[in-house]
Amino acid sequence: MTALGVSSIGRDSQLASIVANCERGVMNAQIDTDVVIVGAGFAGLYMLHSIRGLGLNARVIEAGDDVGGTWYWNRYPGARCDVPSMEYSFGWDDDLQNEWEWTERYATQPEILSYAGHVADRFDLRRDITFETRVTASAFDENHDTWTVSTDRGEEIRCRFVVMATGCLSSANTPDIEGRDDFAGRSFHTGQWPHEDVDFTGRRVVVIGTGSSAIQSIPIIAAKAGHVTVMQRTPNYAIPAHNKPLDPAEVAEIKADYRSWRAKARDSTSAFGGYRPRPDVSAKAVSDDERLATFEERWEYGGLGFGGSFNDLMLDQESNTLAADFFRSKVAEIVDDPELAEKLSPQTILGCKRICVDTDYFATYNRPNVSLVDVAETPIERITPTGVVVDGVEFEADDIVFATGFDAMTGAIDKVDFTGRGGLSLREKWSAGPLTYLGLGVESFPNLFLITGPGSPSVLTNMIASIEQHVEWIRDVIASMTEQGMSTIEAEGESEANWVEHVNAVAGLTLFNDCNSWYLGANVPGKPRVFMPLVGFPDYKKKCDDVAAAGYEGWVLA
Ligand code: FAD
Ligand code: NAP
Repeated sequence: MTALGVSSIGRDSQLASIVANCERGVMNAQIDTDVVIVGAGFAGLYMLHSIRGLGLNARVIEAGDDVGGTWYWNRYPGARCDVPSMEYSFGWDDDLQNEWEWTERYATQPEILSYAGHVADRFDLRRDITFETRVTASAFDENHDTWTVSTDRGEEIRCRFVVMATGCLSSANTPDIEGRDDFAGRSFHTGQWPHEDVDFTGRRVVVIGTGSSAIQSIPIIAAKAGHVTVMQRTPNYAIPAHNKPLDPAEVAEIKADYRSWRAKARDSTSAFGGYRPRPDVSAKAVSDDERLATFEERWEYGGLGFGGSFNDLMLDQESNTLAADFFRSKVAEIVDDPELAEKLSPQTILGCKRICVDTDYFATYNRPNVSLVDVAETPIERITPTGVVVDGVEFEADDIVFATGFDAMTGAIDKVDFTGRGGLSLREKWSAGPLTYLGLGVESFPNLFLITGPGSPSVLTNMIASIEQHVEWIRDVIASMTEQGMSTIEAEGESEANWVEHVNAVAGLTLFNDCNSWYLGANVPGKPRVFMPLVGFPDYKKKCDDVAAAGYEGWVLA
């Protein structure tokens, strides 16, 4: 069903909804809204618009005081997308995509946030969003086939469906370092950045972490700070962004056939960059000169496409090492001090942790006001009121920036106290790692949908493409259930178990299991080590389409 097609069935499906509710003894009066959507990032916004298109009611509950999700919370200096702006945007409305003008190859956080605000205004979404409210619990009522959603403001909302649009990277992870709360200066987490400008002029700043958030923010902080001390546990791969203003002629060419251009992207493993497909050849199958030229060309082009230089970088250790060696040679070229270059050079599998996209990250270490402290061998000992202690040495600081990432993929879902059939707690069910069917639903938790949930390609893709695919799948199943008077849909236990096995088997064919990434939950102490996303968008999308075409195979509809 297309986005345009949906609105035409609106009134019929509303009627069907009423009839269905009456048939199973649930009068509309007992339901406050058809659907509760948790989160008002891109997923929540599109889900709300899509539910309205069915003629049903929805309420969005959002912890922040505005829309935008990731782009509302991550306001740290230098924050921008690493998927090109022309792709990192919605494709479901032609007027929206043709009228919106991105200014740069990789848009800044303020620009993406203003895009989210524009979407909310254009489709009049804010009137159904309750801000500054957190969903704390949700319990399934087996007698009425409804969910009761509880909020931290004491409200209880009864609905048919709950959609978790809570994001994969929305639960900030601040390590529990001794003395953390005693620090007398300012401390920040990149994922919970203040709304006001933070001035680092002349200040001594300790940055903890060297992931994407740190790599984007360090050069900008260093340009003003008195001194920046970077505490690095694992060096990272960062490919230059070569960010630049968008060329109007290039934009016009894309917009002339935006739909096909996006469709091409969705045919690629990570649902973006389809216009520069990875060569279908192993890094080992070409001559040294050809390989070097390919790496060089991808490096010069910039961005995440470097990971697609050849078809086997994530499949073959030797091919991966060839790419990693090239990368290390670049770090050695950029960083003046060879010892420092060595320390900044990752020895892990390239791409095993998400590759970063940077502007002047490595060059920043040539500045006299930037120094690196290795905290791999000797972890941060404690935080004092005046600084951070490593190996008995205190690094004095006015400010600490925790660029320490997120309890990814399950963090935000786990924070909600879900109770499904038979009083089963979702947290308990997931205690050894998340279990889902297609990353969309969970056995014993009927009518609960996860957008970009664990077990779906999500964070290995252009997430907006994954969000759109999930929202449309969920919209269509709700439409179909409403039309047919079905009251519940629930993942079958066997299909869920097989799916989890499949996700693991696919990951097992790759090199993704070979490092301590947040894909595996390895960044959060005590979190079960399970590879959570599924590799490969096109096959996954086909599977979801096939499941729907076969009458929702693997799901129980009642
Ligand atoms: P989010 O944007 O995370 O929104 C979830 C919302 O749910 C949040 O606003 C949160 O407050 C709310 N919420 C959570 N729990 C509750 C609760 N219990 N009650 C009420 N509200 C709740 N992906 C890409 O593909 N390309 C990129 O370039 C890219 N860059 C990124 C840069 C940063 C700094 C980060 C952190 C992530 C980036 N991502 C990127 C991933 C990004 O998260 C997704 O692209 C996308 O924005 C996710 O949208 P979402 O709506 O699913 O979730
Ligand atoms: P991250 O990739 O998880 O990086 C966190 C960093 O903090 C890592 O270097 C980690 O070290 C370090 N760390 C964590 N706990 C530590 C401790 N106790 N002591 C010392 N170091 C510690 O988090 P992120 O940088 O916020 O990025 C998360 C994801 O968000 C990215 O992978 C990406 O998907 C998305 N993102 C995208 C962009 C973009 O370019 N568009 C920007 C930011 C974020 P270890 O590696 O050793 O664990």
